[in-house]
Amino acid sequence: MATQISNAESHIETKIPATMQAAVYRGINDMRVETVPVPAIGPGELLVKVATCGICGTDLKKIHTGSHSAPRIFGHEMAGTIVKMGPGVTRFALGERVVVHHHVPCGECYYCRKQTFAQCPVYKKVGATAGFEPSGGGFAEYIRVMDWIASSRGVVRIPAGVPFEQAAFLEPVNTVLKGVKLLRLAADDTLLVIGQGPIGLMHAALARRTGARVLTSDLYPERHAIAAKFGLHDSIDAGKEDVVERVFKETDGRGADAVVLAVGGNALIKTAMAAVRHGGRVMLFAQTQHGEATIDPGAVCMDEKTLLGSYSSSFEILDEVTGLVFGGYRNGFDLTQLISHRFPLERAVEAIEVASHPQADSMKIMIEPVPGAGLD
Ligand SMILES: [Zn+2]
Ligand SMILES: [Zn+2]
Repeated sequence: MATQISNAESHIETKIPATMQAAVYRGINDMRVETVPVPAIGPGELLVKVATCGICGTDLKKIHTGSHSAPRIFGHEMAGTIVKMGPGVTRFALGERVVVHHHVPCGECYYCRKQTFAQCPVYKKVGATAGFEPSGGGFAEYIRVMDWIASSRGVVRIPAGVPFEQAAFLEPVNTVLKGVKLLRLAADDTLLVIGQGPIGLMHAALARRTGARVLTSDLYPERHAIAAKFGLHDSIDAGKEDVVERVFKETDGRGADAVVLAVGGNALIKTAMAAVRHGGRVMLFAQTQHGEATIDPGAVCMDEKTLLGSYSSSFEILDEVTGLVFGGYRNGFDLTQLISHRFPLERAVEAIEVASHPQADSMKIMIEPVPGAGLD
């Protein structure tokens, strides 16, 4: 079957095949590129041809810890083109370029009314899949977008002139902006962001827009160089300098007003708590695993240091996020500068491997079913 697709810029003919390539999670640390059926779609649903999909820390966590049953096809930071629509879809047209959120909140339940959307039972239901138990599906050639996502704000049109790979940052930027807002930074605040991987760097860049002073720390000078492209020049080389000492030096011996921990694991929680001033806030942003950590209770009680967390995205700030990501592409917020690797789908296993072992030269890693498609 052939579908004639036309949009303002080009006329492309897309033949939807019966099968496709996908990176399938088969068990802990067991990823395989397999041939799977292209998902069938039903009433109100969309079939989206994936142009690019970012690898997220939470994908890696699922792959390495076995927190989810196998088989699954992960990937949720995806952008692509609508190539087929189920009966009853009227809001979209074939050929439209879109970002697909893999889950949306109901907007009505107790948790949604309390603005804690990530705890909403509907939000916890994944509505994008490339087969098996719905899990995002971005690490495949095509994804099926289920009706409650397609009929809500879960599918966002990408304006002309913004490449797919900039648009694919919509979800991670949302999670970061949500965290920045929770910190309630004042213009005279000093924030320390520990970790300058893509998430830490976006945190620092967005926090800087509040007017606050932002210090960043990372072991890799290469990352500080990328951060400088976003106006972040107050960097601490954690490989050479004592981060806590330097923060105190920069803040008249007080410590930072707020600290964001954007490095996974619990090893740096102590550093974050030590670097914040009395009465300041520490946000855990990369601690996505349950476990136990040692915390000085006196630092929370007597020193009044607040420990808080932020997870996942907020649909309340969707318009602000689309403005930032789409408008920012040519206006100081070109996130494609964070992309260090683009892997074709057949090398997805290698892509996951590289993403799992961050090096000085690795930042955001994208999987593109068709090489170069992310730049369209
Ligand atoms: Zn993510
Ligand atoms: Zn809800």
